[in-house]
Amino acid sequence: MIQSSATAPLFIGSDIYRASTYGAGHPLAVPRVSTAIDLCRALGWLPASAYRNSPIAEEPALRRFHDPAYLAALRRAEETQSVTEMDRTRFRIGTDNNPVYREMFRRPATSAGGVLEAVRLTSGGGIAHVPGGGTHHGRPDRASGFCYLNDCVLGILSWLDQGLARVLYLDLDAHHGDGVQDAFAEDARVLTVSIHEAGRWPHTGLAEDRAGGSARNLPVPPGYNDSEARFLLQEAVLPLIHRFRPDAIMMQCGADALEEDPLARLALSNNAYWSAVAAVMPMAPRLVVLGGGGYNPYTVARCWAGIWAVLSEQEIPQKLPEEAETILRRLVYNRAAGRNPPVHWTTTLRDPPREGSVRTEIRQLAALTLQEF
Ligand SMILES: [Zn+2]
Repeated sequence: MIQSSATAPLFIGSDIYRASTYGAGHPLAVPRVSTAIDLCRALGWLPASAYRNSPIAEEPALRRFHDPAYLAALRRAEETQSVTEMDRTRFRIGTDNNPVYREMFRRPATSAGGVLEAVRLTSGGGIAHVPGGGTHHGRPDRASGFCYLNDCVLGILSWLDQGLARVLYLDLDAHHGDGVQDAFAEDARVLTVSIHEAGRWPHTGLAEDRAGGSARNLPVPPGYNDSEARFLLQEAVLPLIHRFRPDAIMMQCGADALEEDPLARLALSNNAYWSAVAAVMPMAPRLVVLGGGGYNPYTVARCWAGIWAVLSEQEIPQKLPEEAETILRRLVYNRAAGRNPPVHWTTTLRDPPREGSVRTEIRQLAALTLQEF
């Protein structure tokens, strides 16, 4: 279905992620995008022709969704490296979750610029990977859940502004994609589909919640495994996409549903993400794949590098070459698991599969998702 004007898959990254941190005690202290880029380069998967540097989004583009007063507060906080009590209360910045840090405006604005660039470059058809994007909790006038801006919403709005009639958003992050769902509630042009851990923050995204018809939610129980992910893909997600016939698909591949993630209790291997990307790829003429959550640098970087392998049709080797192993061995991860990482975290890209039984609630969820009411 890819149109003839489609270009080869593009990887959109930036060096801004390389030395940027939310602070030593924050889950986003770890390097993720830069490690994924380094792995792809070490594997020979990123020729100059496939790589684009993400521009910083311009103010008017950000105002398409965000409140000018909030954007001004973000710039002010970056400049002064502090927030007033009023800005903290009003915009939820300078908090434990959404701290003041060195690039707190430029980094999210670069992620937004990357997603907007991906949408622009795929206007005539094509595939782009923007692992720095995926900030799905961001609100028009406040930060939420480590997200200051909402690059997913900005990208979808840009597709709609191009005149596309149907955009599908698929969110595989362990947390509900609440900011995107709310932005397009009751907008028939956008269908948001989110698979996330039941009972976890932000506690929205119940199966019954359809946002006036423009959302489907699949809250899954702890221990969600590869077999269950395959079942939901085949029995719920792909049929939904088939019915909706999207002109474009945006996939948020937050990697916190992987078993080794410290912030969620799901149990996927990276095979589940790669299979989902491979299955969704042929279902629309335009596909933009984003990152999102994911707080174990070993598992996030390997997952996202593998997603690029799927998108750009590279063969994933059984064992990583020395240069790639070195990148992983040099990671610093200040959690118990990081002190003595399992061998496969540094020697392979592909996890062992994590199959299991498909529980009754998963079967019910698939049936409910396709039910019209
Ligand atoms: Zn998440």
